[in-house]
Amino acid sequence: MTQSSTIIACPSCGAKNRVSDTAAGRPPCAKCHDDLPWLVDTTDPEVIDGSALPVLIDAWAPWCGPCRMVAPSVERLAGTFAGRLKVVKVNVDDAPSISRRLGVQSIPALFLVQDGEVFSSTVGAAPYDRLHGWVERSLAGRS
Ligand SMILES: [Zn+2]
Repeated sequence: MTQSSTIIACPSCGAKNRVSDTAAGRPPCAKCHDDLPWLVDTTDPEVIDGSALPVLIDAWAPWCGPCRMVAPSVERLAGTFAGRLKVVKVNVDDAPSISRRLGVQSIPALFLVQDGEVFSSTVGAAPYDRLHGWVERSLAGRS
């Protein structure tokens, strides 16, 4: 079990919310109750497996240049899909077991996971619009 949490500033009202990385459901802003963009940096599988929301995993490493290019897009996706997606950054060097389970071959790699099962993935740095389209299509394909 993790005790980790992340401070998330609400885009609507600016309030800073401390959200447990393993919070159930989707975290609302304590002040205005809007959905918060949920971006967690973790090596704990429970953050992924315990999520009620679909999880977007960004498999990255500090030495990976293209990973740095894709990072702002991943952050933006957390905002765009607030309340619909939990975005989890996984440093593959620090979390080899998660990396192995996902079958990460090269990075950056993005995975969409629900109930511990990967239902979509994409490899390589792509522009924001393409990533957005991929997430939208993948989520739509599941409903
Ligand atoms: Zn708020």
